[in-house]
Amino acid sequence: MARNSIVSDESVMISLSNVKKVYPGGNVALQNVNLEINRGEFVFVLGHSGAGKSTFLKLILREETATAGRVVVNGRDLSKIRQRDIPYMRRGLGVVFQDFRLIPTMTAFENVAFAMRVTNISEREIRKRVPYVLNLVGLAGKAKSLPAEMSGGEQQRVALARALVHSPPIIIADEPTGNIDPELSVEIMELLKAINMVGTTVVVVTHEHELAQRFSERIITIDHGTVVDDVWQKGGANI
Ligand code: ADP
Repeated sequence: MARNSIVSDESVMISLSNVKKVYPGGNVALQNVNLEINRGEFVFVLGHSGAGKSTFLKLILREETATAGRVVVNGRDLSKIRQRDIPYMRRGLGVVFQDFRLIPTMTAFENVAFAMRVTNISEREIRKRVPYVLNLVGLAGKAKSLPAEMSGGEQQRVALARALVHSPPIIIADEPTGNIDPELSVEIMELLKAINMVGTTVVVVTHEHELAQRFSERIITIDHGTVVDDVWQKGGANI
């Protein structure tokens, strides 16, 4: 497979080349990682606890830097990016965190609006955009609810609405089934699939092998910090 990374190749959304991550103290979390995720893909990054999934996420969000190798996200080499450009770079990645990270004192509307207010977007645009994304995730009627007044699945959809608010080319879902009922995991996967169908690249990070098997077209398996498998399966993502 010719999968060499070229920063200017616009079809490559995420690329890791010979990446190694060693934490202070000597823990080797990732080594020899080479992978590319292309525009429009729906990919699972699968691995047991301790495999290196969170480290992978932290590297592409530039919360950590690689000890060696190159990480390119949306055409930006993250080892070369200036500190002040990092927030802008992160807007190209919509992340749904496992614990949702909603602000408990804010309504669904405000939680999503908050993600826009930290940028220079006008209130007028916010009042238009927030209901649109809440509607997209099926939460039109919950705009005024606080997180505590919503189910786990609903809170997750608020987190997804917030991730979608800047129309990022990439959506990342970190253990999307971790904090919700099993039956709701189908719902969230359906939403992610719909988002993927309109062209967004979707990366789901999980330890759940069955989920990956059921919904994915491509599964990248990480074990002990290295990619041990990268398979495309026929007929994946059929919901
Ligand atoms: P996963 O998300 O798949 O559970 P992690 O990326 O969290 O895996 O961890 C990969 C390895 O790196 C583990 O051995 C873990 O103990 C180690 N590790 C993760 N974060 C740190 C850290 N901040 N400092 C030292 N070691 C870490």
